[in-house]
Amino acid sequence: MPIQFKCENPGCGHRLRIPDAAAGRRAKCPHCGHVQRVPTPPVAALAEVVRLDPENGRRRHEEYAALPPPPSPVIEVRDVTKVYRVGSEVIRALNGVSLTIRRGEYVALMGPSGSGKSTLMHILGCLDLPTSGQYRLEGEDVSRLPQSALAFIRCRRIGFVFQTFELLPRASVLKNVTLPLLYAQARNRKQRSLEAINRVGLAHRIHHRPNELSGGQRQRVAIARALAQEPSVLLADEPTGNLDSRTGRELLALFGQLNREGQTIVMVTHDPSVARHCRRVIHLVDGVIVFDEPTSGRPED
Ligand code: ADP
Repeated sequence: MPIQFKCENPGCGHRLRIPDAAAGRRAKCPHCGHVQRVPTPPVAALAEVVRLDPENGRRRHEEYAALPPPPSPVIEVRDVTKVYRVGSEVIRALNGVSLTIRRGEYVALMGPSGSGKSTLMHILGCLDLPTSGQYRLEGEDVSRLPQSALAFIRCRRIGFVFQTFELLPRASVLKNVTLPLLYAQARNRKQRSLEAINRVGLAHRIHHRPNELSGGQRQRVAIARALAQEPSVLLADEPTGNLDSRTGRELLALFGQLNREGQTIVMVTHDPSVARHCRRVIHLVDGVIVFDEPTSGRPED
């Protein structure tokens, strides 16, 4: 890439294009003849590695374009435990969980029944606090906040989608989506709600009640309700668990599309065929992460 810069002679200002190999050297402006130093491109864009040359065993310096910085973390969990006491019994539901989820990730949380998935989701969703350890949401430590502050974070920054939809039966689609924005004292509630309903493909159903919709449509309303909050993270707990397989696939296609548009998603599922739609799988057993890997390939959405 040639280096482009303006001639520094105040009376000239001619735009020069110089091969990048000449960075730091002197160059003459073809317009006014002024001799000046060619600026060096920002070093942040370049990184250096040192390798041993296999031919002569000498150290060789190589420059390469540095990778862009990774997206910022949305969720940072460090050594989190959750202990329940029932009578004299002590249950360690989470036993030292650490994980980081960055903006734009699409993560499946898997594990057998009783492995701690719901407990972890409750903590990630600020519905519950860890017994020990730290949870940072977008850099803010939320592991020791009072209930009122947690409720405020929940309605502003977390979008929930549940297996059982959890819609208000007597309220219209529009009302179901708008109401949480009212609690969050958000602005432009109607416009945000209509946009979210449009994104899930239900613009023609805004005045329907949940019992006038199919299961898949109800879950779309729940997704619209979560999206309208413009959440930092969408937490979905077995979102296709109550749907037939075809409707489930359509919903997963919608989650995939939202993720491609940049939405961070964490989804609890026990179903490997659902987890394959995500881009990373975290597997819990007995309150411990035993497996945390990218999924190999993405099925057709
Ligand atoms: P999963 O969602 O993977 O099925 P859970 O997080 O629901 O697992 O449960 C993990 C462990 O914690 C289980 O042994 C469960 O019985 C226990 N547990 C969960 N919630 C409570 C609670 N409120 N009180 C006591 N024990 C609980």
